Amino acid sequence: MTIAVYPGSFDPITLGHVDIITRASQMFEQVIMAVVKNPGKQPNIPINEREEQVRQSVKHLSNVSVQAFEGLTVDLAKAHNAKVIIRGLRAVSDFEYEFAMSQMNKRLSPSVETIFMMAGLEYQFLSSSMTNEVAKLGGNIHGLVPEHVGRYLVARRAEGAQAS
Ligand code: ADP
Repeated sequence: MTIAVYPGSFDPITLGHVDIITRASQMFEQVIMAVVKNPGKQPNIPINEREEQVRQSVKHLSNVSVQAFEGLTVDLAKAHNAKVIIRGLRAVSDFEYEFAMSQMNKRLSPSVETIFMMAGLEYQFLSSSMTNEVAKLGGNIHGLVPEHVGRYLVARRAEGAQAS
């Protein structure tokens, strides 16, 4: 059985990520989405909420499971006997970072292969960070994130406005 891990901050999960996991779920028997707890940057959305949002977004994909995770992706892969790490690639912007990380992961665990999937054309310029910025400033994020995530971000902005 070919098991793959798809790690990311998913802060928040966008329709670009959903596109990748949907396509990956058709290629592998089982895919584990690992929601990384402590990305280098300060997360916008708390880990338990990010995990729940990812779970909600992929609940229709029966061979995809979701877990929050802290540590090395290759260790998670080994623990689940996964041979593949999936990463998404957007035009130009992701290449250098993703290339370096895949080399490091290869060094850490030569038996785990990183596979890159090209982002869908309509999601090439979609990022979690830009979505957060637009949501905070009250812009329209429809069509960028799953609807429940959109509602969450709008509600958070309203709460923030009330608090200030
Ligand atoms: P990280 O913080 O680990 O880079 P992200 O949550 O930003 O995690 O992204 C997880 C993976 O999904 C990365 O491989 C990233 O390049 C990819 N990705 C990010 N945005 C998109 C998008 N719009 N379409 C497809 N893949 C994407």
